[in-house]
Amino acid sequence: MTENQFDIAFDWDGTLTSGDGPIGQDNGAEIDLYPLRLCLEAGCTVAVMTCNEAPYVASVLASRGITAFADTAMAHKVPDGEFGGQVLVTNRKVLAAVYADDRNITWKFGDDPRYPLACTMQDKEVIR
Ligand SMILES: [Mg+2]
Repeated sequence: MTENQFDIAFDWDGTLTSGDGPIGQDNGAEIDLYPLRLCLEAGCTVAVMTCNEAPYVASVLASRGITAFADTAMAHKVPDGEFGGQVLVTNRKVLAAVYADDRNITWKFGDDPRYPLACTMQDKEVIR
């Protein structure tokens, strides 16, 4: 594992929450933290990436018994020291081994260059 690489980074908006975009405090979106809890119980380092306000998301996690640290300084590092073991909540994309995101295709450097276009066209077909 690379230093400051999380084991897993969850998207918040539309992934741990229902709906397909950023949610605010009062829009009634459902929140499912079970997949995140499973990772924590297995000892994984976990980040939550969001377009929402990071302190708000951290407070939601805290209200549900998950200790979280809002990375308002944009350090995007695995929490250690006094913050060790906490879920990092950030507005940045952090380095992680695994990303759980509702708007994701898996493609990386060296993969079939036609794949992103193929996925895009497939989505366009579904939308039509
Ligand atoms: Mg999302």
